[in-house]
Amino acid sequence: MASNAGQSTISLETIVSLAKRRGFVFQSSEIYGGLNGCWDYGPLGVELLRNIKDAWWRAMTYRDDVEGIDAAILMHPRVWEASGHVQNFSDPLIDNKTSKSRHRADHLIEGEIEKLRKKGRTEKAAELEAKLAAATDPSQLYQLIIEHEIKDPVSGTMDWTEVRHFNLMFKTFIGPLEDTSAVVYLRPETAQGIFVNFDNVRQSTRQKIPFGIAQIGKSFRNEINTKYFLFRTREFEQMEMQFFVKPGEDDKWYDYWLGERWRWFQDLGMTMERLRTKPHDKLAHYAKAAVDIEYEFPFGWGEIEGIHNRTDFDLSRHSEYSGKKLEYYDDQTKERFVPYVIETAVGASRSTMAFLVDAYREEEVNGEKRAVMRFHPRLAPYKLAVLPLVNKDGMPEFATRIYHDLQRHFKTFYDDSGAVGRRYRRQDEVGTPFCTTVDGQTLEDGTVTVRERDSMEQVRIPADALRTYVAERVGL
Ligand code: ATP
Repeated sequence: MASNAGQSTISLETIVSLAKRRGFVFQSSEIYGGLNGCWDYGPLGVELLRNIKDAWWRAMTYRDDVEGIDAAILMHPRVWEASGHVQNFSDPLIDNKTSKSRHRADHLIEGEIEKLRKKGRTEKAAELEAKLAAATDPSQLYQLIIEHEIKDPVSGTMDWTEVRHFNLMFKTFIGPLEDTSAVVYLRPETAQGIFVNFDNVRQSTRQKIPFGIAQIGKSFRNEINTKYFLFRTREFEQMEMQFFVKPGEDDKWYDYWLGERWRWFQDLGMTMERLRTKPHDKLAHYAKAAVDIEYEFPFGWGEIEGIHNRTDFDLSRHSEYSGKKLEYYDDQTKERFVPYVIETAVGASRSTMAFLVDAYREEEVNGEKRAVMRFHPRLAPYKLAVLPLVNKDGMPEFATRIYHDLQRHFKTFYDDSGAVGRRYRRQDEVGTPFCTTVDGQTLEDGTVTVRERDSMEQVRIPADALRTYVAERVGL
């Protein structure tokens, strides 16, 4: 049986191709040549995504101190002024006039640092890294590109434009007039829907601090370079929670939520050697502390979640911009204060990609290759496959009865085509944790075999006990 080790050899192409072939993820608008940075979830992908969101929702909101909401994607444009997105949510962009290719200026410089390191010129690399960290405006980035003679990877020329800031928010218009008074944005994060509802939730639920508000929803960013499949896309889903605490208690809650979020990945069977935490070197001006949870993807380490201490920045700014005081009055201590916020922000789409990559194994069984998705049973799209051994002697009828009965309780698949060994392999490849086979003995004594995906071991149990057997092991 293969271990988690060997996994690093998996290429992204293997995952992308399996995802398409088996109906996890398709390119958006594929028949028209696709739309860059957008993906569609197929029949199995949508189950996986929903199971991930469900696992998060249960972990985060089925508790006393966190409430859920679902805010609108379109919000009042002042929200994005208050949050700082109109002014600051931008990437430095540079174009090459010869190749017409567009790049993030900071990424080009990071690429150069990497090259210098590979050539063993560590001092020069460190010097450039320090200059990049200190660069605060686009002209400084431009200067670094010119000084270090960084060439366009496409044309090999230095035929660069100036560096400009490019806001990542998608703009659209409310109503028939496309003028500035009608501008709205597709939200680039779900968090602001939570901040603006702080008082609504507190008053309607009578929650006392500390408490949190959680939300799952779509976000949109006009990323300059989309890449690595679901990792960096223009439309994606986030799962965010803002936990409101008394200033002074924020460090304690920051540590607490980092621990909780780390455990969530562990509980869902993520390979822990492929996870690490990485504190931010550079903090946003409002943040007191920030750490990323990173996963080791086939292309290297990448952030899947951020845990941030956002201080009282957000509520203070919304108080200032809306004119409505977002404060908290503690009736025990008689204190009035603006709560601090500990935020946990994870991508549902990005973590779907991490769970897809993490689950994939290639193993050798009796001299044959088997590809298996070792999803945690709670995340697996199908929980059970029902297979009649042969299509005669009453086996299909018995198997169909089981299938219809269990389909009402959990996602079940029916497969009666091909040799049973091949049917097992097909289920392994999509990560179905259990397969049940109806055979000759079933018709005599009402028992069925149940084969477990990872160990491939089989047990025989009464068909009547199947529902409980699977539900218990899947954690339903
Ligand atoms: P990055 O540095 O990778 O752009 P970020 O630090 O801007 O990410 P946050 O704003 O903290 O990300 O968003 C929280 C989470 O949302 C990220 O950890 C990631 O999982 C997800 N996310 C952010 N941008 C994208 C994107 N373009 N595509 C898919 N998921 C994303």
